[in-house]
Amino acid sequence: AKNCGKNNAKLYSSSLTMQIMSHVKLEVGLRRALQNHELYLLYQPQIDVPSGQIVGVEALVRWRHPERGIISPTEFIPLAEETGLIVPIGEWVLRTACAQARSWADMGPQPVRMAVNLSAKQFKDDNLTQVVLTALQETGLAPGLLELELTEGTLMDDARATMITLDQLRGIGVYLSIDDFGTGYSSMNYLKRFDVRALKIDKSFISGLPQDSENAAITRAIIAMAHGLKMAVVAEGVETDEQLVMLEHYGCDLAQGYYLGHPSPPESITLMLRNQYAL
Ligand code: C2E
Ligand code: CA
Ligand code: CA
Ligand code: CA
Repeated sequence: AKNCGKNNAKLYSSSLTMQIMSHVKLEVGLRRALQNHELYLLYQPQIDVPSGQIVGVEALVRWRHPERGIISPTEFIPLAEETGLIVPIGEWVLRTACAQARSWADMGPQPVRMAVNLSAKQFKDDNLTQVVLTALQETGLAPGLLELELTEGTLMDDARATMITLDQLRGIGVYLSIDDFGTGYSSMNYLKRFDVRALKIDKSFISGLPQDSENAAITRAIIAMAHGLKMAVVAEGVETDEQLVMLEHYGCDLAQGYYLGHPSPPESITLMLRNQYAL
């Protein structure tokens, strides 16, 4: 294949070269982002549908790039996964989120749960359970107040290894949920085997509500199934009052979305909780 080099070189249009260069630059930047304190977390409230109370938050990472401004995780998390940088970044996210959750837990009577996204690479990392344990011990956060969000893809990968890791995490006492439910390779079989506590209905199903009758049917079916399995259901991407009313009617437990609160800096969440606790 070596003698094809010249021909291949011609295929690289200048715009592709630019793309590759900016990708490499982004990677170099991402390596430095952690030590330069360019990453930060926003927190999006999760509301108990019947009571309207904030019962949880999801941590969502952002990158304040020195030249490019704020970069979305949809852009840099895949790069972090590819390069393995997700492991140290994920560890930082976990520790920062646990520390924040601990300080909110100290504020009031009903502490909010902290949901953290785990990518497939992190889930496969041998040190994961140790990293989780250390984050909990260092911050003094009760394990039940930490929720780890896994995707269907992560769980389907390697049944045996997955089982062992899930057992260890369950042993620690953290709360496990499945993110983006319904978009991956859902298997009713693994829901039974893996003993997760909650399903998050992907926002693509919620976005067409209340008009879209197919999405409505899927949403109702997921809620019924989850409740049959004694799992809680979180609807994500709730953007309107009509959607919230419909979800309440269907018996959805928790809701998250712009209508209920955008991903926000910690100070904003502190104010919301103060209000809720009437402090
Ligand atoms: P996700 O876990 O599914 O998170 C929900 C995404 O939906 C977030 O995007 C959130 O800002 C957005 N969202 C919330 N409410 C609404 C709404 O009402 N409408 C719409 N259209 N969108 C809404 P974000 O923050 O850009 O994060 C994108 C993805 O990046 C996340 O999707 C997650 O997969 C990944 N991610 C974010 N933070 C982390 C992290 O710390 N670690 C890992 N491994 N992945 C992360
Ligand atoms: Ca998530
Ligand atoms: Ca999601
Ligand atoms: Ca997602």
